[in-house]
Amino acid sequence: MTDLSSLTLPELSAWVTGELQEPAFRARQLYQWLHQKQASSFGEMTNLPAALRRELESRAKIAPVSTRLKLESALDGTRKFLFALEDGNCVETVWMEYHHGPSLCISTQVGCRMGCRFCASTLGGLVRNLTPGEMLGEVYEAQRQMGRPISSLVLMGIGEPLDNFENVMKFLEILSSPQGQNLSLRHVSLSTCGLVDGIRRLGERRLGLTLSVSLHAPDDATRSAIMPVNSRWPIGELMAACRDYFEATGRRISYEYALIDGVNDTPAGAEALAGLLRGQNCHVNLIPVNPVKERATRRSSRRAVEAFAARLGELGINATVRRELGSDISAACGQLRRQGGLKPREGGDRFEDERILE
Ligand code: SAH
Repeated sequence: MTDLSSLTLPELSAWVTGELQEPAFRARQLYQWLHQKQASSFGEMTNLPAALRRELESRAKIAPVSTRLKLESALDGTRKFLFALEDGNCVETVWMEYHHGPSLCISTQVGCRMGCRFCASTLGGLVRNLTPGEMLGEVYEAQRQMGRPISSLVLMGIGEPLDNFENVMKFLEILSSPQGQNLSLRHVSLSTCGLVDGIRRLGERRLGLTLSVSLHAPDDATRSAIMPVNSRWPIGELMAACRDYFEATGRRISYEYALIDGVNDTPAGAEALAGLLRGQNCHVNLIPVNPVKERATRRSSRRAVEAFAARLGELGINATVRRELGSDISAACGQLRRQGGLKPREGGDRFEDERILE
């Protein structure tokens, strides 16, 4: 069965004209049903001849994403979805309400092999990549559940988007296409733990999206202790790639910095971070780390967070403390899948120290 929801318009046209021997306008109709009207079955596609719909049913599929669980915050309208995929694996998607409209945080992989020590998503290793159709399914199913469209999107759920590079690029191409949802990439943020080769490939595409880099420490010793990826691409190489990315795209980089008690939240840490970022056109997002029960990391005190932010400000670095949403339904990202979803496959591919991306 061909997964039609993962095909870009040129790919779908090639399939419709080649495999089905149908005229190209049928591909455009089909694409609009899939990505503009966001149909979840061929039966809904009423302007396609019945015979064609039957043929589609026997040869093709639309990547199914269904709601397994929906949690609603009583505090601020945040919704957290556990979505089930066709093979029974689950991923998390979070709907957040902002004054500029709803924003969705989607997953890009089932599990993750990056191994960050404070993160729940990586505990069972990587199970598999999501297809473009499944990532689109997260967006479409969330909108179906909520009855309205999103105005922005962040790739900050489970998984490392640059470790699933081609599928994520296809997903963004379809999502931003005028014949589809037509979401401007200006309203998309992609977050990476710092895969330097991926950042360089992304820079070459010159997309309008915002790149978020999970920095979390200002020096190699601290960063390597909490993020195995740093042994493969240390801070110096990461910063060089970020500077080149800004040169290539003109887009300001956003750095994520999760404050962990006694690890990276000292005044000296703020000074080192300011030194590292001096002269870069960037923004720092400070996030008090979410405690994960399997992990030893503790969140910094409110005082330490405020002092860290203030020190960065004094040193001329643009920084904000991220407002927490949905703290009553939180379960740090990746935890819901482990509680409510199918158990991640044991011995999944895990990304440790030197083995990174051979
Ligand atoms: N793999 C990508 C995107 C997914 S994680 C990346 O690493 O950027 C999204 C963000 O949440 C990252 O900045 C990640 O470091 C951060 N994060 C993971 N676990 C966290 C936790 N327990 N508390 C706070 N932030 C966390």
